[in-house]
Amino acid sequence: MGPKTDIGWDFGDMVGENRKKIKCKLCQVVTTGGITRLKQHIAHISGEVEACKKAPKGISVMLRKYLQESKTARELMKKRKETTIMSIREESRHIHDVDTESSSENDDEQGSRYANKEYLSQMENKQLRNAMRESRKQAFDEEERMRYNDGI
Ligand SMILES: [Zn+2]
Repeated sequence: MGPKTDIGWDFGDMVGENRKKIKCKLCQVVTTGGITRLKQHIAHISGEVEACKKAPKGISVMLRKYLQESKTARELMKKRKETTIMSIREESRHIHDVDTESSSENDDEQGSRYANKEYLSQMENKQLRNAMRESRKQAFDEEERMRYNDGI
């Protein structure tokens, strides 16, 4: 069993070996949606779970704040991921340019002087491309899905 580091465990006890089933220490109600659901129960966040009838107001407010902060943290993570995807697109555009240049240079005499250097950079590009292919694919899939959802 992993460590119970979540703040929610201050307010609930596991029922048996099932981490999803947690009994509220304040009102003895058993919630079945894991530790997050128990926190919602005590924080009086409605929708998913019945509100705790015994939780003091201070505790409810504190947990609500806690849950909102972790939601903000998740949104920040998502933003950061989007920024990464944008920069990968920029880089892949750059790599495409380099490819076009080097293939035309290989056709003339001067090309041989730089052949070794070019070979290396082409290898690097290939590795980069391979590494990026997956993330790019994911980004495009996401874009595709968003477009579909917008009904365009
Ligand atoms: Zn309760």
